[in-house]
Amino acid sequence: MDMLCIICRKAVGNSITIKKPYLTHLDFDHYKTTKKNKIFYCKNCNHAFRDFTLNNNSLLFKSEKYINHSEDHKYFYKKKFIKQKKLQAQIIKKHLIDKKDLNVLDYGCFDGGLLNELLKYKSVKNAIGYDVSNRNITNKKIIFYTNLKKINHRIDIVIFANSIIYEKNLHSKLRFINTIIHNDTKFFIQIPDYVNRPILFSLVDQNHFFSRDSIKNFFFLHKIYLREIKSTVIKNDLIFISSKKNNHLNKNNILKKFEFNKLDKKINKLNKLLNKFKNTRNFIFGSTIYASYFSYYFRNFIGFIDEDLSKIDKPFLNKKIYNIKEIKKNNSFCFVFDDNKKLKNRLKKLYGYKIICI
Ligand SMILES: [Zn+2]
Repeated sequence: MDMLCIICRKAVGNSITIKKPYLTHLDFDHYKTTKKNKIFYCKNCNHAFRDFTLNNNSLLFKSEKYINHSEDHKYFYKKKFIKQKKLQAQIIKKHLIDKKDLNVLDYGCFDGGLLNELLKYKSVKNAIGYDVSNRNITNKKIIFYTNLKKINHRIDIVIFANSIIYEKNLHSKLRFINTIIHNDTKFFIQIPDYVNRPILFSLVDQNHFFSRDSIKNFFFLHKIYLREIKSTVIKNDLIFISSKKNNHLNKNNILKKFEFNKLDKKINKLNKLLNKFKNTRNFIFGSTIYASYFSYYFRNFIGFIDEDLSKIDKPFLNKKIYNIKEIKKNNSFCFVFDDNKKLKNRLKKLYGYKIICI
């Protein structure tokens, strides 16, 4: 039987097999499996999704590691680190909070970090969190559910902050969400920018790979119209809020601009470059998905380095994270973002290292 695209319902005949390493999103650990990482993509509307037999998300998300994990993703901006949760809350306040007594739902709330931030705003009356696993939510003001269907509040703001990509059955979840919202409910949606960061396809726990267009197409099917918001700090992800007007779409005119044809080329080019440096002794900058991906190729690397002092001396993938200031200058290292010139120049200027930019 043909695989059907979840958005346009046409048969999907195209797939790419992504080579190893396969990683999990939680701590970017290497996922061991003999199965292939196969990604299907629809040539009609260019939505991409995984061969769901690869992962078992219900096991992954019920693991102790997941339950006890707390997320503190940070961005470096204007000479300091800012927590992602704070940035997300600021965007939500600016664009979506315009009245009082709001019921806010964070779908995939994890440890409740974003809801904690939102509760600092007086307009937020009820902070409702949903996650598939029982989490240790320390803020008692957060109303937490592991069963979506038990939510009995009328929701004013729905947040999908990097959570929708893990779901398999997107339509049934959105159909339910539509029963607990009203005409003025607003949405905040954040997804990774897969087109510009093809390494993200190695994350085995992510199931749906949206583009700028396919995310709009998907929500349009549920009568939710999105427009993109540009953040000056969050550059690796795409952010959308709901809009009253539907400027782009109608049933026969879905948006179609995804560049999947270039995907395997991009990944192959990167792997070739990594292979070239595979026997050098070096450090890898950061402790993100890129660092983990690189470490798979660099068999002789010494360890990771970071500027964020809260990470120093902690292990990452069984290697130490060193303070960037204490590393001798005759070592080369590569850094995390393939096109982050700002970071490259800063590191060069501050520490004078030889940098390999991948
Ligand atoms: Zn399609």
